[in-house]
Amino acid sequence: MVHFVGAGPGAPDLITLRGAELLKKTDVVIYAGSLVNPALLGLTKEGCAVYNSAEMTLEQVLDVMKDARERGLDLVRLHTGDPCLYGAVREQMDALDALGIPWDDTPGVSSFCGAAAALGAEYTLPGVSQTAIVTRMAGRTPVPEGEALEKLASHGASMAIFLSAGMQDKVQAALLAGGAYTENTPAAIVYKATWPEEKIVRCTVGTLAAAGDAAGIWKTAIILVGGFLGQSYERSKLYDPGFTTEFRRGTDAPAQGG
Ligand code: SAH
Repeated sequence: MVHFVGAGPGAPDLITLRGAELLKKTDVVIYAGSLVNPALLGLTKEGCAVYNSAEMTLEQVLDVMKDARERGLDLVRLHTGDPCLYGAVREQMDALDALGIPWDDTPGVSSFCGAAAALGAEYTLPGVSQTAIVTRMAGRTPVPEGEALEKLASHGASMAIFLSAGMQDKVQAALLAGGAYTENTPAAIVYKATWPEEKIVRCTVGTLAAAGDAAGIWKTAIILVGGFLGQSYERSKLYDPGFTTEFRRGTDAPAQGG
């Protein structure tokens, strides 16, 4: 059996209990070398074979999976954050299906959640934005035209931009070209969220590239943009004394009885 497991954003205790259990029991691990905290490999049992996928092709990964299957061994494929974002998991799952090798998938804490936690931020602030856009700048991997950063930037929604820390000047230009953010819209760059070497750079859309440059951040960072990083918002309806819900009677409820 192949277990896809989300390792979480970095801190080794941010893997799920299920993911940790699978790691403890497995005979083989293939981990995403540059981003998974090696401390997690310490959970594995003695004799567990460890492969770093940063040095491997899809074919080599599949060969290790096939070999484990033939020998009746369990294998954990450890991806950073949650496997469902920029994890290149679908191609592995489809290949395993074609080979008749069973697999399952254990989610993890994505780095866009780790980065929000580092900042004490909420993407969906009432009165500011109710939408979080998870995207990336086109690099060697192209982005479909309709999802060009400047188009997504026309909404003014909260944004988490992955895989783009090396292109902060282009990110800044695209964000401004979208028309909904201004030079003063708050932004942040979070480097290695939840790792001991985590770095937080708060800036604005207008100072993004200069701030990233000054901090020397060009990889393993996520760029967050939007009014949700600012100071003004409305309080929630859910916890407003005036608001009746299925579970709580608020002061807006009609008087009972009579
Ligand atoms: N599946 C992962 C993303 C993998 S793509 C997830 O859910 O987080 C790799 C990109 O993720 C990096 O270029 C960076 O943009 C982001 N990333 C991964 N770990 C990070 C961390 N601890 N802090 C900030 N960004 C991180």
